[in-house]
Amino acid sequence: VTVLGLESSCDETAAAIIRLDPEGHVEVLADRVRGQTAAHAPYGGVVPEIAARAHAEVMDVLVAETLGDAGITLADVDAIAATSGPGLVGGVMAALMTAKGLALGAGKPLIAVNHLEGHALSPRLVEPLAFPYLLLLVSGGHTQLLIAEGVGRYHRLGSTLDDAAGEAFDKTAKVMGLGFPGGPALEKAAVSGNPARFELPIPLNNRPGFEFSFAGLKTAARQIWEKIESPSSADIFDLAAAMQDKIAVTLSNRASNAMKYFIETYPDALTPVLVVAGGVAANKAVRAALEDAAKAAGFRLLAPPMKWCTDNAAMIALAGAEHFRQGEQDALDVPARARWPLDAASAKLDPVIG
Ligand code: ATP
Ligand code: MG
Ligand code: FE
Repeated sequence: VTVLGLESSCDETAAAIIRLDPEGHVEVLADRVRGQTAAHAPYGGVVPEIAARAHAEVMDVLVAETLGDAGITLADVDAIAATSGPGLVGGVMAALMTAKGLALGAGKPLIAVNHLEGHALSPRLVEPLAFPYLLLLVSGGHTQLLIAEGVGRYHRLGSTLDDAAGEAFDKTAKVMGLGFPGGPALEKAAVSGNPARFELPIPLNNRPGFEFSFAGLKTAARQIWEKIESPSSADIFDLAAAMQDKIAVTLSNRASNAMKYFIETYPDALTPVLVVAGGVAANKAVRAALEDAAKAAGFRLLAPPMKWCTDNAAMIALAGAEHFRQGEQDALDVPARARWPLDAASAKLDPVIG
């Protein structure tokens, strides 16, 4: 099946066309992303109204470009998929309304996709990875561990109790004046830093369970920062390194707990796989810590290429194609949702509107 996918739930406007064969192999025919970093940079964070307008301005253009890249027309696609949540509703509208219009105009089925399901299925853009697998989703808005049991079937083990990991990176970078987006800026500063100089807590250290917490760590880093009178480069580099180190350790500790649970639940899994997705997966220290943890637990770590770790439409098109393949489609009045948890019961079936 050939599916056009659209995405606009945060600060990336994206369109992609993929082809999914019966064995689960994916061919990406077109894959375009347009970021809005420059528009939000002066505010140090994503401004919903600015995001919504920027998405609406370029969504149609991206669709036209994507069809051009793939060398096909709308008549050649089998279905049109769009993120319908969770996310900034004003932004989500851009992709969803465009998809509705295209579906109606071209007489094609509409598939409303949960953005988190897109992330959860993103490794399958790379290879036809078998279910079940363990997924650590670490982005600007989400930090959670879940087991992907099948298309539309996800068992959430635990989420963050407060900030997302990306948020902890972004907010700390902001406090330290490192710029926006903060994650990459903080990683750059951390490269030449000494992670051992400043003492920061490891959240939920040695505790069982799969939840995360980053608010206390973030506050501790801010308090250290505020005590430094005129920060030198070394101060900046060392604090960035300490912060990054503690986030990486936290993620790998909690992932280790989940890997243990996964092995107990699926003792027959031959080579169990830990997938890491979301923008924070770009961080080299995070990847290295997860690589070590996976190795220790007998897991293979699979990190999709960066372009599919951060927000993109290829993963939305794939999620749409998988649901379409199962005979599903959505009505034209399907709503945009601010909240839409990705649990077993709520992936496609829960009608709750957040
Ligand atoms: P969501 O997908 O949860 O709705 P989002 O759009 O913010 O939110 P992504 O685009 O997947 O998520 O990722 C962006 C996040 O990843 C930001 O918080 C950013 O700071 C973080 N990030 C990106 N690169 C790095 C890096 N090298 N190190 C640490 N964090 C990073
Ligand atoms: Mg983003
Ligand atoms: Fe995302």
